[in-house]
Amino acid sequence: MGLAIAVVGAGPSGIYAVQRLLRSEDVTRVDVLESLPAPYGLLRYGVAADHPKTKTVSRALARAFEDERVRFFGNVHVGRDVSREDLLEHYDAVIYATGARYDRDLGIPGEELAGSLGAAHFVAWYSGHPDVLKPADWHGTSTLVVVGAGNVALDVSRISLQPRKLLESTDMPREVVDELDHELTDVHLLCRRGPEHVKFTRVELAELLELPDVRIVLHTDPAALAEQEGHPREVATNLRLFREAYAHWDGNNDHPRKTMHFHFWTTPQRIEGEMSVTGVDVLTAPPGGPVTEGRIDAQAVIRAIGYRGEPIPGLPFDPDRCLIPNDEGEVAGTAGREYVTGWIKRGPTGVIGTNKGDAAETAERLLENLGSAGSGTPTRPDLADKLEASGHPAVDWARWDRIRAAEDALGAEHGAATVKLADREAMLRAAFDTD
Ligand SMILES: Cc1cc2nc3c(=O)[nH]c(=O)nc-3n(C[C@H](O)[C@H](O)[C@H](O)COP(=O)(O)OP(=O)(O)OC[C@H]3O[C@@H](n4cnc5c(N)ncnc54)[C@H](O)[C@@H]3O)c2cc1C
Repeated sequence: MGLAIAVVGAGPSGIYAVQRLLRSEDVTRVDVLESLPAPYGLLRYGVAADHPKTKTVSRALARAFEDERVRFFGNVHVGRDVSREDLLEHYDAVIYATGARYDRDLGIPGEELAGSLGAAHFVAWYSGHPDVLKPADWHGTSTLVVVGAGNVALDVSRISLQPRKLLESTDMPREVVDELDHELTDVHLLCRRGPEHVKFTRVELAELLELPDVRIVLHTDPAALAEQEGHPREVATNLRLFREAYAHWDGNNDHPRKTMHFHFWTTPQRIEGEMSVTGVDVLTAPPGGPVTEGRIDAQAVIRAIGYRGEPIPGLPFDPDRCLIPNDEGEVAGTAGREYVTGWIKRGPTGVIGTNKGDAAETAERLLENLGSAGSGTPTRPDLADKLEASGHPAVDWARWDRIRAAEDALGAEHGAATVKLADREAMLRAAFDTD
């Protein structure tokens, strides 16, 4: 007798929850159900391809699947391939770690035009997410406007400005590299507030400001970059980086191929164009004025203003915070059987490491509530039998290894360590060896 637990979502938070659950002897089975044929969530489909070091966290996460109590069911979407009711029948408890993979909207006219898209869409596409289509025709885009003042806005800007040679060394699908090999010359980043308010982290900001062959233009009075007494360390560091960039480029006669523009206190008012984007009307309103209106001619606009999670049918949902309301991970009204962790629990904030403590809190709450009371194997029916009877091709860990091997082989063909397969059918062919 012991607990049988389902974890829905194999992103960082789901796997951290598994790791914490395994420390309890009361847990006899943990099944991880993942919509994609691949694990790791935004670590694989969000963390930028030119940050391979961050992605090595996957090695530590993979160890959870070495425990014989854990099984991976990739290519299984909860809500389509199995229902919430199925989970409640097959498991003592369920932890939802489904993340937040959709974009928030700006709510301004023109947002629906071709060439206007959300960062979640753009990032998922350049990361080779198999369910995401090419978001825009990138060729012919010379100017891109990015809206947002967080690290995702930096990622999107940096990836757009990186030279082809660098992208070719990453795991990016080759069709993405070809598409991003465009004539882009200018990226305009619109930050709603001032340089002291941006949410950029030091390393990411420095990386963008130091991109080779990219001129930095700060559209601001240099006095706005001065450090004030009482500024926290991160703010002081960002201001110093901006000042250094300003000093380097002010009056500099080098002519780099590309330019990165920072606009502070600037918001988009309207996206212009008939069928597709031709420009963005902006309003700049620094404290103390003057307020100015302007237009940036552009062929694409990416809003990086936040991700949002999706409701899970049958569970409560907070539409403003885009999360499932919970008490230390426990979802109210579920008799202690349903839990959440990660971005769907606390909203779309925090780095990978933040999910570790968050997942531990959820797992501990579950173990406290259920202790050894679960019926566990063999009394609960096995979901594997149900999936097999339905003929659904679930990808287990050995099959995921085959996908990885196919991606490594593709990488070898292209002179990179690995290159992602971005097509679900191709992933399944590799998994089931039907090529
Ligand atoms: C663009 C971007 C870049 C980032 N870069 C960094 C970085 O460089 N460093 C860093 O530390 N952090 C970074 N982060 C933050 C980090 O990715 C998150 O903290 C972390 O991924 C959140 O983990 P999660 O498990 O809650 O969600 P996710 O990683 O989104 O995982 C959720 C998983 O659930 C699956 N799923 C969803 N619905 C279902 C369903 N119905 N059935 C089955 N499976 C389902 C999804 O397919 C996904 O695999 C970045 C985030 C973004 C958006």
